[in-house]
Amino acid sequence: MTKRALITGITGQDGSYLAEHLLKQGYDVWGLVRGQANPHKMRVSRLMSELSFVDGDLMDQASLVSAVDLVQPDEVYNLGAISFVPMSWQQAELVTEVNAMGVLRVLEAIRIVSGLSSSRHNGASAKNIRFYQASSSEMYGKAAETPQRETTIFHPRSPYGVAKAYGHFITRNYRESFGMYAVGGILFNHESPRRGAEFVTRKISLGVAKIKQGLQDKLALGNLDALRDWGFAGDYVRAMHLMLQQEEPTDYVVGTGEMHSVRDAVRLAFEHVGLNWEDYVYIDPVLVRPAEVEILCADTSRVRGELGWKPEVDFSALMKMMVEADLKHVATEHQYGDLLAAASW
Ligand code: NDP
Ligand code: GDP
Repeated sequence: MTKRALITGITGQDGSYLAEHLLKQGYDVWGLVRGQANPHKMRVSRLMSELSFVDGDLMDQASLVSAVDLVQPDEVYNLGAISFVPMSWQQAELVTEVNAMGVLRVLEAIRIVSGLSSSRHNGASAKNIRFYQASSSEMYGKAAETPQRETTIFHPRSPYGVAKAYGHFITRNYRESFGMYAVGGILFNHESPRRGAEFVTRKISLGVAKIKQGLQDKLALGNLDALRDWGFAGDYVRAMHLMLQQEEPTDYVVGTGEMHSVRDAVRLAFEHVGLNWEDYVYIDPVLVRPAEVEILCADTSRVRGELGWKPEVDFSALMKMMVEADLKHVATEHQYGDLLAAASW
């Protein structure tokens, strides 16, 4: 029988890759889209004829109940969030509403539509709708150990990380309280030509493309020493799907297990177009964060061992893929910002 999936955040980077992946698996795919005439919908326009949409917002409980009730999904992937960390210092309350309370609202929608009582555990029937929460390595923050694994204690360093930790714990709590099949995928940074232009890898790939084509002179960056475990988003959505196909629900860390600095990313990207990064990059103190996450690297033993998942694109190939894509976009579009980002989808 055809499975049906409901994806929040379908207009985002991961939502688009996940939609493509699930369509290939034969799923009936629905996307929750917020706002009147959301302009980001054009990002999945290529898939439009194969997707269905339902209106809803993570800020609005009733809309989520209606969406789950209408779609009657087998699987819900909650990818919707305000995903850019610096924004969470500027709009901490909003980020908490969407990234923390939003998770509770989706879980409540599933609980209500499944007919689960809030005062008792209903057992097996609760496992009907499976739930994936987009948890984040930002929850580790100032991590007590490296690499980080499923049991590493959280020490988030931004309102974003704190909100994600709430989302992770409430997911686990609904699993334990109501027997729901609900899991948190603790994903480390993952990028692609569809990554938002504000994130460092995409900022670098776009900057390199514009500099190479004489459209920009310099590239301003913040902390070049930060270390991240960067992977390819197209690989990571496979892990999301696998997490919902297991007998028992549990949380998984997903990453490559390799760590690189922002400086490494810059050097690779400039090298790819035959330029020396030191001639173009300068540090702008405004881009240094109030509290930094210095080092993130995944211990991938569980996801590799239990799900048989592994990444296929390494860091160097990822940076090349992003620079190549942006060289094409810059050459053809002559427009930047969101339109340019959209063109890469
Ligand atoms: P994007 O920023 O590309 O996409 C975010 C999505 O959330 C968009 O579709 C956006 O829709 C939607 N959204 C924002 N606010 C709301 C709201 N109030 N109601 C409903 N939808 C909303 O993020 P990614 O695709 O990169 O990430 C997907 C998820 O994974 C996010 O939860 C992110 O925090 C998490 N994550 C990402 C990592 C990464 O490295 N990419 C690492 C770990 C976790 P709209 O078009 O309406 O703005
Ligand atoms: P994050 O890990 O989810 O915050 O993803 P980002 O891509 O936004 O940032 C990754 C790392 O790059 C962080 O440690 C940032 O401090 C660092 N960084 C350095 N310069 C920049 C910059 O100009 N923009 C962004 N977004 N990050 C930067």
